[in-house]
Amino acid sequence: PAGPELEALQHADVAALLPRPAAESDKYRRGVVGVAAGSARYPGAAVLAVSGALRGGAGAVRYVGPAGQAVIARFPETLVSDRGPREAGRVQAWVVGPGAGDDAATVAEVLASPVPVLLDADGLRLAGRAAVRDRGAPTLMTPHAGEAAALLGVAREEVEAARLSAVRELAAAYRATVLLKGSTTLVAGPDGGPVRVNPTGTPYLATAGSGDVLSGLAGSLLAAGLSPLDAGSVGAYLHGLAGRFASAGAPAGAHDVAAAIPDAWRDVR
Ligand code: AMP
Ligand code: MG
Repeated sequence: PAGPELEALQHADVAALLPRPAAESDKYRRGVVGVAAGSARYPGAAVLAVSGALRGGAGAVRYVGPAGQAVIARFPETLVSDRGPREAGRVQAWVVGPGAGDDAATVAEVLASPVPVLLDADGLRLAGRAAVRDRGAPTLMTPHAGEAAALLGVAREEVEAARLSAVRELAAAYRATVLLKGSTTLVAGPDGGPVRVNPTGTPYLATAGSGDVLSGLAGSLLAAGLSPLDAGSVGAYLHGLAGRFASAGAPAGAHDVAAAIPDAWRDVR
C-alpha cells in the first residue's frame, strides 16, 4: 500500500519517461553507454550486461574489459575497446561491476569519470564509500539484499527485515541513488523523498545473470539522459515486465529476459 513514504511506479509514468529518439537523432545524441564488466572467470556477466544495455535506449554500447571476444561474438554491434575506461572514448554513462572479479583499478577509474555511473555486483564491494560519496556526477547503486548488507555491515536478514530503512540508509551514506533488488525492488534517491516501489516482476527473475541484464538496461537509460532515480525505476519496471514475458509461467534464462526487453518496451509505450 502506497503511503507518503512509498510511491508505486505506474505504467503511465514509466511510459512518459521512456527515451524516444527525435527524428533527427544520431547514435551519439541518443547516448553511448560504457560497460566495464566481466572477467576471465565470469565472461558471461559482460555479455549479459551488454545485452541489457543494447536494449535500453542508448545509441551505442562501448565495452571495456577482458571479455571483448565473447561480447563481440554474441553482439557484433558493440564497440569493443582494448583500452581502460579513461582512454576508451566518450560515453554518457558507465555500468561497472558485474562479474568484475577483483579489478578494483577499473572500478576506481570509472568512479573518477565525470559522467553518471551505475555500480553493481563486484563493483559495489570494490568501491570505497568516499570514492562514491565524493563523485562530481551521480551514482546509481544496484545491490541485492546480500550486497546491501555487506555495505551496511549488517546481516542479510537485517536488510530483509527492514528493506525500506536499509535502502534509505545506503542512499544517504553514499549520497547515491540506490536500487535495492529483490522480490519487490525499491529505489531511493540521495536526498530523501518518497521511495519508489516496482510492481512488475516474477520469481523466475531469481536466476543467474538476471541482475547483470538489469544493470546494462538501467545504465543505458542513464546514458539516454534519465536521472538515476528515473533510470533505476524505469529499468526495474521494464526488467520485471521482460521477466514476465520471457518466462510466461515457465523458467527462463537471463538471456531470455534480455531478449524480451523490446516486448516490455512496446507494452509500456
Ligand atoms: P541479481 O541478484 O543481481 O542477479 O538480481 C536478481 C534480479 O532478479 C533483480 O532484478 C531482482 O529484483 C530480481 N528478483 C530476484 N528474486 C525475485 C523474486 N522473487 N521476484 C521478483 N524478482 C526477483
Ligand atoms: Mg547481481
